[in-house]
Amino acid sequence: MIPALSYRLDMLNLSIGGKKMNLESPRPYASLDYTPDVERATAQIHEKVRSVIPDLEWPVFAPYIAAINELKRQRNAVILAHNYQTPEIFHGVADYVGDSLGLAQFGAKTDADVIVLAGVHFMAETAKILSPEKMVLIPDPKAGCSLAASITGADVRLLRERYPGVPVVTYVNTSADVKAESDICCTSANAVAIVESLGVDKVIFLPDEFLGKWVASQTDVQLILWKGHCEVHERFTGEELRAYRAAQGEGVEILAHPECPPDVLAEADFVGSTAAMIKRVGDTRPRRVVMITECSMSDNVAVEFPDVEFVRPCNLCPHMKRITLPKILKSLETMETQVEVDPETGARARLAVERMLAVGRRD
Ligand code: SF4
Repeated sequence: MIPALSYRLDMLNLSIGGKKMNLESPRPYASLDYTPDVERATAQIHEKVRSVIPDLEWPVFAPYIAAINELKRQRNAVILAHNYQTPEIFHGVADYVGDSLGLAQFGAKTDADVIVLAGVHFMAETAKILSPEKMVLIPDPKAGCSLAASITGADVRLLRERYPGVPVVTYVNTSADVKAESDICCTSANAVAIVESLGVDKVIFLPDEFLGKWVASQTDVQLILWKGHCEVHERFTGEELRAYRAAQGEGVEILAHPECPPDVLAEADFVGSTAAMIKRVGDTRPRRVVMITECSMSDNVAVEFPDVEFVRPCNLCPHMKRITLPKILKSLETMETQVEVDPETGARARLAVERMLAVGRRD
């Protein structure tokens, strides 16, 4: 049965960047039934995702996709989706898809009034830091991140006391408070370039220990590390990769994200950010690929490369999976949950993010 949402919209008036917004937009489709109109409106998307979404499931997703795409036009909203979102979000409703760096870059330049972040909380916060005048919505504010939860702004201040004068490089997977205490941010797409851009022989690198170890192996700069880990990538093991290689034989390429432990990266053929992995598949077109990262990534990339066989190891990020089509629709209907950042903290955090954006990506 198609789920129906039962809440009612109250009349709300809201101002975004000085513009008045009437939030009593009626739902564009009267019901969430799979009608012939919905079927027509979503036919192209359906065709694209047929290889990863079974036909049986399409009538459940399609009404939400049609309603969301119509409502975001009414709201002048864009949906930014991380590469780890499920295919019905990634291919069905997103205006931009990418890794953390790509989402930050797109969020900084879009002229939409509203940004809906189909990702985790630090990504929405980063969008708000870069676009304080815009309304930034996260469909589920509980979508967190084990890396962001591993460190606070107070921890960074203590590290600065312990290592006076050593600059702080912070992964974007952190809260606004932590970014505000940092000199510059980085992502897995540009971490080595950012560390080297500072022209010093030692940096404090926070909070991902494994990414830090990988960066340290690529540069002469000495890194002082923190013990934060991604709960998804830390579960992979080198033994698991050796088993994939043995089972898949010749012609398999193993791509791993640098948030994985060092023994995993040592077994991989290529190490890079999610965007770098996608580029690698496009450039080399291997016969078979194993992507050592979050589960949905392979589904999303497989749609673009039907000639490549994807072996799908499945470690799900429970935080990313909190974002669903019904929650995105509800978010656009109610304009909740809005992400707010204290203006003073936001201004300091913005400096660290903008310094990173000035260096750009290096993958
Ligand atoms: S995959 Fe890991 S780093 Fe990414 S949001 Fe989930 S817990 Fe955080």
